[in-house]
Amino acid sequence: MQRPIYLDCHATTPVDPRVLDAMMPYFTEHFGNPSSVSHAYGWEAEAGVKQAREIIAEAINASPEEIVFTSGATEANNLAIKGVAEAYFSQGQHIITVATEHRAVIDPCKYLESLGFEITFLTVGEDGLIDLDILEKSIRSDTILVSVMAANNEIGVLQPLKEIGALCREKGVLFHTDAAQAIGKIPLDVEAMNINLMSLTAHKLYGPKGIGALYVRRRNPKVYLKSQIQGGGQERELRSGTLYPPQIVGFGKAVALGLAEMETEGERLEKLRDRAMEKLLQLEGVYLNGDRAQRLPNNLNISVAGVDGTALILGLQPVIAVSSGSACSSQSVAPSHVITALGRSKTLANASIRFGMGRFTTAEDIDRAVDHTITTIQSLRKAKQ
Ligand SMILES: *Cc1c(COP(=O)(O)O)cnc(C)c1O
Repeated sequence: MQRPIYLDCHATTPVDPRVLDAMMPYFTEHFGNPSSVSHAYGWEAEAGVKQAREIIAEAINASPEEIVFTSGATEANNLAIKGVAEAYFSQGQHIITVATEHRAVIDPCKYLESLGFEITFLTVGEDGLIDLDILEKSIRSDTILVSVMAANNEIGVLQPLKEIGALCREKGVLFHTDAAQAIGKIPLDVEAMNINLMSLTAHKLYGPKGIGALYVRRRNPKVYLKSQIQGGGQERELRSGTLYPPQIVGFGKAVALGLAEMETEGERLEKLRDRAMEKLLQLEGVYLNGDRAQRLPNNLNISVAGVDGTALILGLQPVIAVSSGSACSSQSVAPSHVITALGRSKTLANASIRFGMGRFTTAEDIDRAVDHTITTIQSLRKAKQ
């Protein structure tokens, strides 16, 4: 049996064979501990880590010493949010974030709320974008952190990072962004965007799972963080634990490839996405979720009226691998907190489909996926009559 067409690239992506090739020697040949400074095994591993650190730093216009390797974006978000909260609580206990954030931001914030911090969850417009005036009005004298994601993992919406950064700088508040979906897809520049903390992950960018990083600004202003994992003092005391060279080298390679191919690949995916979008939106009762223009080139998210959400996903399953809502919440039956935040009904939120195209998606894949989606919607509607 043919496997379904994979269109769930916001959940994860396959490892690019070129990334795997770069990783392989670090499992066997260069197996040393990068912290071992007294022999060549350690130096070889450290050389691979150093190179990856430089590539990742350069990709976001940071310095290598500002990159802290973590197990992924979830850990990076936890370190950023809880680390700032613990380091700055004497200056204030108010944090601002957004209702449509990934749970890896929302849940650490809710945890801090349970400890007595005050969290403002900004609402978004129908387009999924935050309102900068509301953000400005929400910043108080006791606000210590603003956390706004770069690109949404469900609807692909791109928040105005540069404007948010400028505002946070003017108000003297730290700015963290979860850029798990954005790295290698859109240009990121921590200087131009006034970003103090940025969470990254490799597995949404054809790198391995289980590796990510937090960018922590070191100069004007230096950001202080309380580490969340204590031990051997790796990563400048911010994240203890033996570094994992194969994953780190793979992460570096994935970022290098992502950046080198960002423009051509972005244009290719945008064309495929737009073709799918045009065809699907021609159907009656099919709505686009998230802003038309301010979105990732590889994301399409629609809500379908007049069909049952579960039946829809079941009908798509044999031919295309997509999800309704995010991968992390698809276990639960609750409608997506992101789609409902756009003002959509629970029924429409449940009957939503997220298409995430990627490096290995072809035009034929998209045509087959769209045809099958249209047939499925029509037959489900017919069955209801
Ligand atoms: C996938 C994702 C995460 C979680 O990243 P992991 O590396 O899997 O922990 C966090 N935020 C966003 C926006 C994501 O898309």
